[in-house]
Amino acid sequence: MKKPSAKTKSLIAKGRKYYTHAYKPREMILARGVGAMVWDVDGNDYIDLGAGIAVTGLGHHNKDLLNALTAQAKKLWHTSNIFFTEPPILLAEELVKASRFAKRVFFTNSGTEANEAAIKLARKYAADNGRPPERREIISFTGSFHGRTLAAVTATAQPKYHLGFEPLPPGFRYCKFNDFDAIAKMVNENTCAVMLEVVQGEGGIVPAAAGFVKHVQELCRKHDALLILDEIQCGMGRCGKLFAYMVESGVTPDVVTLAKSLGGGIPIGAMLVGSKVENTFQFGSHGSTFGGNPLACAVARVVLKKLQTPALQKNIRERGKQLVSALTAINKQHKFFAEIRGRGLMIGAELAERYKGKAGDITDCARSHGVLILQAGPNVLRFLPPLTITEKEMKEGTARLVRAIKAYLSK
Ligand SMILES: *Cc1c(COP(=O)(O)O)cnc(C)c1O
Repeated sequence: MKKPSAKTKSLIAKGRKYYTHAYKPREMILARGVGAMVWDVDGNDYIDLGAGIAVTGLGHHNKDLLNALTAQAKKLWHTSNIFFTEPPILLAEELVKASRFAKRVFFTNSGTEANEAAIKLARKYAADNGRPPERREIISFTGSFHGRTLAAVTATAQPKYHLGFEPLPPGFRYCKFNDFDAIAKMVNENTCAVMLEVVQGEGGIVPAAAGFVKHVQELCRKHDALLILDEIQCGMGRCGKLFAYMVESGVTPDVVTLAKSLGGGIPIGAMLVGSKVENTFQFGSHGSTFGGNPLACAVARVVLKKLQTPALQKNIRERGKQLVSALTAINKQHKFFAEIRGRGLMIGAELAERYKGKAGDITDCARSHGVLILQAGPNVLRFLPPLTITEKEMKEGTARLVRAIKAYLSK
């Protein structure tokens, strides 16, 4: 790894001077990428096992996405939702058909906004059915992450994200994730929606227990509450099927939110709504200036089409197995992890007791050995590589990780 150049140092100094302190970017300036490989301005290469944060699902510099983007860029960039354009109409149709439950779509620019739309939709559905405000509660689960706007962050049942932003909007309740009895006791005639990730991402890569989503679905049906699945991270192929809820049979959500991988790196989010709530949003109920942007939708159409090809779905399963077996091999030698878990190419490795709290240091060490990984909290290493990652790239990435872990352990 080359030492940071004068240019790198000066850019980083400016970033630190002019950004708010909301982020703490690593000490390099990324400049370009191809497939699962990225380069910094000094020419160092890195295997990208994070894909942003599960965003560049089809890898960097994907030719088909680039073609879709440039073709649309030459035609029309923006019109607002006062007018129709072609890409969002066709993307909406394709999402509805692929989802097998949705009737309609609302486009946003981010995941948070998709969840914000879902929260507003749930409240309005309850209001339309004559329920007073105190009977419009939304339940979410410990360890969840639903975004950063005030409503989405309130749905995010992790106190560290709330601190300092009180007063939070009322009407949110939290239940222990994967606790069948606790949720059965909590859902009642005051519940207007239950919101959950099929596999929790930021919370540490924690899949819903077998039958849990279906259990929640039955409780929702009983009390006329909506089942909202946040598939912003676990959806769009990540778990081996197009939608994470399709991994388990018999799940029919009322609302699904998408973002991250949907645009392959271009900002876009979507809320998909089923028949029960397809008419809840009426003219004027909600809106977004940029939502349904033709550039983003033109790219997302190609992403969606590619994610439905059996070859790519097979790659997700096979590369997932390759990654898990590489992590398992590391563990045999070094007893580094307490647990390796996840679905498809959404894999978490929880650190063994003596390395608890060190996920940030290990992530840094991995970077200096040429592999970009993520953390999910202080105790879990998180792997969300491009879904198109090749066997060779994965082999190289995990080899670099082994070197990084050895270096970390010998420090
Ligand atoms: C990232 C994420 C969000 C928020 O999406 P943004 O695009 O950052 O607003 C919401 N839910 C889940 C599960 C996420 O992983």
